[in-house]
Amino acid sequence: MNTQFSYAQEMDQIDVLKEYRNEFYVSDQKIYFDGNSLGLLSRRAELSIGKILEMWKKYAIDGWTEGEHPWFYLSEKLGEMSSKLIGANADEVIVTGSTTTNLHQLVASFYKPIGNKTKILADELNFPSDIYALKSQLNLRGLNPDKHLVQVKSKYGDTLETEDIIASMTEDIALIVLPSVLYRSGQILDMKTLTAEARKRNIIIGFDLCHSIGAIPHQLSEWDVDFAFWCTYKHLNGGPGSVGGLYVNARHFGNQPGLAGWFSSAKDKQFNMDHTLTPAKNAGAFQIGTPHLLSAAPLLGSLEMFQEAGIDKIREKSLRLTEYLIKLIEIELAEYSFTIASPRDSLSRGGHIFLKHSEAARICKALKAEGVVPDFRNPNGIRLAPVALYNTFAEVWHVVQILKTVMKEERYNKFENKRGVIA
Ligand SMILES: *Cc1c(COP(=O)(O)O)cnc(C)c1O
Repeated sequence: MNTQFSYAQEMDQIDVLKEYRNEFYVSDQKIYFDGNSLGLLSRRAELSIGKILEMWKKYAIDGWTEGEHPWFYLSEKLGEMSSKLIGANADEVIVTGSTTTNLHQLVASFYKPIGNKTKILADELNFPSDIYALKSQLNLRGLNPDKHLVQVKSKYGDTLETEDIIASMTEDIALIVLPSVLYRSGQILDMKTLTAEARKRNIIIGFDLCHSIGAIPHQLSEWDVDFAFWCTYKHLNGGPGSVGGLYVNARHFGNQPGLAGWFSSAKDKQFNMDHTLTPAKNAGAFQIGTPHLLSAAPLLGSLEMFQEAGIDKIREKSLRLTEYLIKLIEIELAEYSFTIASPRDSLSRGGHIFLKHSEAARICKALKAEGVVPDFRNPNGIRLAPVALYNTFAEVWHVVQILKTVMKEERYNKFENKRGVIA
């Protein structure tokens, strides 16, 4: 691969997604490589917030059933709009809750310890919130997490081996919860193989798609995954605190949700006001209460862009961006003791690159001072996410040049090597 700036310019020129950058509020003072923590605002998302506000203004209570996007059906509609991104049927997806509350709901619904089959299998590299949720679900059932939560170990520190996970699928495991893409190294787990192996052993399996939805394609229905959940403020650009999503395989429709509420109802029964719940025969059954409409609104605009651009084109560009970033780091930063902890092969590399360095915290601060927005992950990681919809190859080139200057001139020395409150 040609690593000159001219290569970046050429790639940007022939980029089939290049028009999308104009749809986003991209600062001309900054290079934003943090879309895997909080995606940028798009004009379409902004417009769709305005539409929902207008409906409130115009229809008040009747907004639930009238206007362009009747609120009563919005969660289902957004679920349908998300379904292609994960390879699911429209009725298997609902936009509701948050990553962590959805995980609570799904564990409450799918974790059925019986006999010796009582344990939950997770991994030691997952994001803390998922692990806290799993432990608290065990505590709620009077089960000791030290005994009943099994966390697969990482052989090399940043990644997980498929065979190690499979080896942990022992007879005492009732439920498996794993990330699709690890939040640090960006490794994609082999969801297809893991699901097939879990199925063989009669173990329910679910995935956290926070770092994969909107970045890579999935085939959840085809792989026969039991459930999945995610947030929408990372690659999906739904805005701070935007409403999350979940997927439940159609095989499980008609069962009672673990945590029920009146929005779990079949829509035609909901206003009967019965004290016996008739759950919706779709993923909607896993909703609890009234949807957070103002935080769901941006997704109308944002998901429309994903539908238009198509996840395959997004993935294709994303892979070329991260490939270019890796090559440039290898060549330009060879002498500065960085370790690229992300997988090199495109089958296991997600949408961001993870760089390890002993001075990572202050290197991140120095980058920010130079107008580059990465993020820091304790204790020594720098995440760089060039996002297909709004970042360019030229930006990748500039980021590496700026990082090189920061290292060469030791500009990070001005800063303390400690993380901020939000890092
Ligand atoms: C971002 C992220 C979360 C965040 O959970 P919220 O409930 O949305 O705050 C949880 N798990 C993983 C793996 C994440 O990447």
